[in-house]
Amino acid sequence: MRQKLVVANWKMHGSSAFIRGFFAEFAPAGNVVICPPYPYLATVAAACAEKGLEAGAQNLNAEPQGAFTGEVSAAMLGDLGVRYVIVGHSERRSLYGESNTVVAEKYHAARAAGLVPILCVGETLEQRESGNTLQVIAEQLAAVSGEAESPWDNAVIAYEPVWAIGTGKTATPEQAQEVHAFIRQALGAEGQSIQVLYGGSVKGDNAAELFAQADIDGALVGGASLKPEEFAKICSAA
Ligand code: PEP
Repeated sequence: MRQKLVVANWKMHGSSAFIRGFFAEFAPAGNVVICPPYPYLATVAAACAEKGLEAGAQNLNAEPQGAFTGEVSAAMLGDLGVRYVIVGHSERRSLYGESNTVVAEKYHAARAAGLVPILCVGETLEQRESGNTLQVIAEQLAAVSGEAESPWDNAVIAYEPVWAIGTGKTATPEQAQEVHAFIRQALGAEGQSIQVLYGGSVKGDNAAELFAQADIDGALVGGASLKPEEFAKICSAA
């Protein structure tokens, strides 16, 4: 039986004062991961540990160490008590040119260090409208699985249609369910046990119907995760 999971992606938002306010107000329910910007990871990891939540990072570098100014390794995240890391978010792919190959390297570096990667996959509006959604997702998954043995062990997938991220346009539960079912099928035997989250304008008032779908195991939440009350509503629906 797969457990529900809700992940907050704060992106480049927040401050020390915001974090104090957030944890003063946020009453957690269920399995929750908070992914703040790097400078706040240690603070958030400590606050999460107190409340029975988990902390996650939004990105990592695939190299173990070295002359990579501004970068952070998987081992450093583990050292901070961080358990999860988002990999291949569409903003990383589109704004920072991360290819499927780069995303795969990050994914495997995270797993090798004992972290749980949250792999984001999803199609653009143009790809959906030209009927290529499932092919795009299949390619994003294949790049990661490659020749690896049990590549989906200890990992989470987030289906995030790019056209639904930060736009207020949520995929309908049926649209999301179709892709989630496809993802499970593409993953073969491991597809039944892995958590597959939906992301894209999830809010307190649309979470329950998304989570009611057979293959949706929770959500990756951007904007609404910055509002403790709204985020708590999403977590309660999970
Ligand atoms: C995201 O950034 O992963 C996301 C899903 O954002 P939002 O919830 O704001 O659409």
